[in-house]
Amino acid sequence: MGEGVLKRYARYLPLTPDTPALSIGEGETPLVRSRHLAGELGIDELYFKLEGCNPTASFKDRGMVVAVAKAMERGYGTIMCASTGNTSASAAAYGAAAGLETVVLVPQGNVAEGKLSQAVAYGARVINLRGNFDDALRVARELAEARSVCLVNSVNPDRIEGQKTAAFEIVDVLGDAPDLLFIPVGNAGNITAYWKGFREYHDGGNAARLPRMMGFQAEGAAPIVAGKPVEHPQTIASAIRIGNPANWEGALTARDESEGDIGTVSDAEILDAYKLMARREGIFCEAASAAGVAGLIKHVRAGNGLAGRTVVCVITGHGLKDPGLARELADHPPEEAPADVEAVARLLGEAVPGTSGGGHRS
Ligand SMILES: *Cc1c(COP(=O)(O)O)cnc(C)c1O
Repeated sequence: MGEGVLKRYARYLPLTPDTPALSIGEGETPLVRSRHLAGELGIDELYFKLEGCNPTASFKDRGMVVAVAKAMERGYGTIMCASTGNTSASAAAYGAAAGLETVVLVPQGNVAEGKLSQAVAYGARVINLRGNFDDALRVARELAEARSVCLVNSVNPDRIEGQKTAAFEIVDVLGDAPDLLFIPVGNAGNITAYWKGFREYHDGGNAARLPRMMGFQAEGAAPIVAGKPVEHPQTIASAIRIGNPANWEGALTARDESEGDIGTVSDAEILDAYKLMARREGIFCEAASAAGVAGLIKHVRAGNGLAGRTVVCVITGHGLKDPGLARELADHPPEEAPADVEAVARLLGEAVPGTSGGGHRS
């Protein structure tokens, strides 16, 4: 346990004897069985892959550990990325662990508080770019090419290699691939990586099945569904607010080879799923993560019954990344009371045991 992705899946990764054994405890995330949604949707086996349990609280760590280890091996002193937030948090953490400088370019005013706090805490240089994510990626790509800086976005193939290990873990736990995998799609690195992982495990005889890959974009940021880039992508789910995905081709391959689908969900559907996950499953996820769950709900309600199927939803990141959103959506905002038993009891609408006839419940 806790040995990290490089060690655990070494034989599937592009490692050499010179690749440093980097890890801050990524991978081996829980696969949790649904307690509520499965019954609601009539699915026999529904699991959530909790990628928010990684060291920086998103799946980005799986790919970042490989990308940064390879950057060390190649002698880079600096890593750079464009980010909607989670890539920068992860790059900053692994950069710190590796003793490298980290530079992150983020779209100004559009990064969740928790993610920005992480990048700053790990000591990265954070540059707020007056533009969107696609602008930031363009600048980062050109800068990395011109300087001896390692780009650690998912255009870096080492990222995809690391991220595919999540598919291995699902098969290792379930004993086979699921029938369907639901996953949010932004830059499309993750859907590309999962499909590569499932394929490799299948080809190597570790899995009998291949899953149908079911990717979901937000309605206002759905270039793959539209078949053309979206110039001003809009959605509450900032981690998938991307108008021109770097791994577009990979997403299409995953969809077509797996006989899957890439669809859209509205922000309202995303927020409903976000609340349902927290309130009914006890799983506090990012809004972007809820897009996959919203996609599952939409798919089943459209008449595609999944009885008898094994389904996995990838919960890509932790809800604590964006505490402000949770507060905004609260049905029960925090209340206030004096530090007095009677007063709190009154607030709760119950008598206090042992006073004024309250007594014990029988
Ligand atoms: C990066 C990210 C996504 C989107 O993944 P892509 O590989 O860009 O498609 C979804 N959810 C969270 C929480 C993310 O950090």
